[in-house]
Amino acid sequence: MIKVFKFGGASVRDAASVKKLGSILRQFENQPMVVVVSAMGKTTNALEALLVAAKTGMNEMQKQLIQLKNYHLGIANELFPKPNQKLIHQIEEYFSGLLEELLHFNDQDFDQWYDQVVCFGELLSTLIVSDWLNANGIACKLIDSREYVVTDNRHRSANVDWIATEQRMETLRPFFNEHRLLLTQGFIGRGSNGRSTTLGREGSDFSAAIFAYCLDAADVTIWKDVPGLLNADPKRMEQTVQLYSISYNEAIELAFYGATVIHPKTIKPLYNKSIPLFVRSFVEPERRPTMISENNNDDSLIPSYIFKDNQLLISLSPRDFSFMDEDCLEAIFGILSRHQIHTNVVQTSALSLSLCIDDRPGLAEAIIRMFGDRFFVRYNHGLQLLTIRHYDEARLPDLLASKKVLVEQRSRTTLQFVLGE
Ligand code: ASP
Ligand code: MG
Repeated sequence: MIKVFKFGGASVRDAASVKKLGSILRQFENQPMVVVVSAMGKTTNALEALLVAAKTGMNEMQKQLIQLKNYHLGIANELFPKPNQKLIHQIEEYFSGLLEELLHFNDQDFDQWYDQVVCFGELLSTLIVSDWLNANGIACKLIDSREYVVTDNRHRSANVDWIATEQRMETLRPFFNEHRLLLTQGFIGRGSNGRSTTLGREGSDFSAAIFAYCLDAADVTIWKDVPGLLNADPKRMEQTVQLYSISYNEAIELAFYGATVIHPKTIKPLYNKSIPLFVRSFVEPERRPTMISENNNDDSLIPSYIFKDNQLLISLSPRDFSFMDEDCLEAIFGILSRHQIHTNVVQTSALSLSLCIDDRPGLAEAIIRMFGDRFFVRYNHGLQLLTIRHYDEARLPDLLASKKVLVEQRSRTTLQFVLGE
């Protein structure tokens, strides 16, 4: 059976990291494998910045484009002490293609255009990595994941057409009769309209799960710059501990509420075929990884803390003083669903409904337009959502010190607070 490995941007951010990736692959010498690679370092952010620059100023755009090109050429040149002219030429061609896309700026069709630009990050990284692997005794075949991951045409968060994708991926199976390693891009696919699509930011984990599902992989490993899944973001909390074994359910709960270690869509396809997912340290590969599988024995052993900033709290109460009943709720959620507004916390009382939502510019105003004729709308920006799984009461006073609790919600396993300063 094959394994699927996924290396994120941090694992290919410079020449030393690419070599480290190679040394990890060497440890699995005879293992057939699909290796999914993200864009190098912060390239996707840089491409997003280029899109902004393409709108506002040509000089700035040209400047940023040269920086990004030099970054990739720099890595290529460090990897190949004797200049690899063919690779340099291919990188330059990609950058001409990218410039071409940038010049086609179209605000009307922004999401579609975004995908045509942003996919270059993954195309460049896999080009460079596969060239280096092949030149260093790790034979691999580079495939374009857009030929295999078939999606709809919803740009920037495309939905996978599973049947078509499975059919395409079937054709990859014979490769493994004689060869060992396929290398491909995460994050990108192709819509039925023939254009490149992307699966949503950080979507390479999901790509790894798609390949694993369609090829019935033995397991998936996400190589990270953290030792595994931790019970909180170390940037937010001082003492964190690693979760060594959690269930698919638990992983979905954590990802749903904002744990950023794994892309939330990653788990479902793996769960459907009982394919275990390992989150493993790229820096110290010998460390014990986190395993996400059917085993739920350890789920409740350790409390997990998930912080999500930039929350908007909306409160709706009917103008005519009627109850917040089922009809009212049906109408409200119908509108939210049509506008693809996802709620993180929902709380109702007889006369009002509170919704906690990821904020973005203009959202509060848009919500007032949607609901203002029927409801009094009040809102609060700049809040934090704290979700605690398997909570420990004793730690709450510390966590809530100097915070104002605006909403609190408790179930047997989960405690949530919407907090203001
Ligand atoms: N490169 C993409 C991003 O940064 C996809 C990924 O890294 O998973 O969002
Ligand atoms: Mg990334």
